[in-house]
Amino acid sequence: NSFLELNLSRPLLRACESLGYQKPTPIQAACIPLALTGRDVCGSAVTGSGKTAAFSLPVLERLLFRPKRVLAIRVLILTPTRELAVQVHSMIEKLARFTDIRCCLIVGGLSSKIQETALRSMPDIVVATPGRIIDHLRNTQSVGLEDLAVLILDEADRLLELGFSQEIQELIKLCPKRRQTMLFSATMTEEVGELAKLSLTKPVRLEA
Ligand code: AMP
Repeated sequence: NSFLELNLSRPLLRACESLGYQKPTPIQAACIPLALTGRDVCGSAVTGSGKTAAFSLPVLERLLFRPKRVLAIRVLILTPTRELAVQVHSMIEKLARFTDIRCCLIVGGLSSKIQETALRSMPDIVVATPGRIIDHLRNTQSVGLEDLAVLILDEADRLLELGFSQEIQELIKLCPKRRQTMLFSATMTEEVGELAKLSLTKPVRLEA
C-alpha cells in the first residue's frame, strides 16, 4: 500500500512526497488504478477522504502524455462552490508543481476579463463553478470543450442541492460523448443517481 504501486510517474510521486503523503488513502488506492484505465467512476466520498488527489493524480498522469503542441481544455472539474473550487485548484497546482500542466480557476467573484484571458490560453485543466464556466463558454468564441477528455463532478449532491442541474446538463451536452467521467458525492440520493445515469458510462462504484 504505497504510491509506488500505483503506476504514477516520477513528477507526481515527487509531489506526493513533497506534500508529506506517505501512503494513499483508501479512496486513492481504489480510484487511481481504476481511473488510469479510463473507466468511469462513481465514488461515495466525503471531504477529508483524500478524494481530490484521488481524481487529480490519474488525470495529471494522463495529461503528462498529451500531445504538447495541441492546446485545448482537456479536463473540466465542476464544484458546487467557489470555496471548494479554490481548494481543488490549489491542490492540483501542488500536485502538478513538477510538471508543465496548467490549471485555471473559473469562479464568480473574480475578474471576468482575467478569467477570459486565462481560458483563451487553453489551460489543460479548468476548475469551475457551473454558472461561471457556462457564461464564459457562451461569450468567449474559440474556447470550447470539444477536446475534453475527462469531466469530473465533485460533490454532486451539493451541486444539485444548489440548483445547478440545468447548468450541468447543458455542460454535459457540450462535452464529447467519448470521454471519461468521474462523479463524487458524500450522499447517494435519488437525484445523484439520476445525474450518474445521465453522465456516466458503465461506472465502477467506489466507497471511501
Ligand atoms: P480532501 O478529502 O481531498 O479534501 O483532502 C483532505 C486532506 O487530506 C487534504 O489536506 C489533503 O492534502 C490531505 N491528503 C490527501 N491525500 C493524502 C495522503 N495520501 N496522505 C496524507 N494526506 C493526504
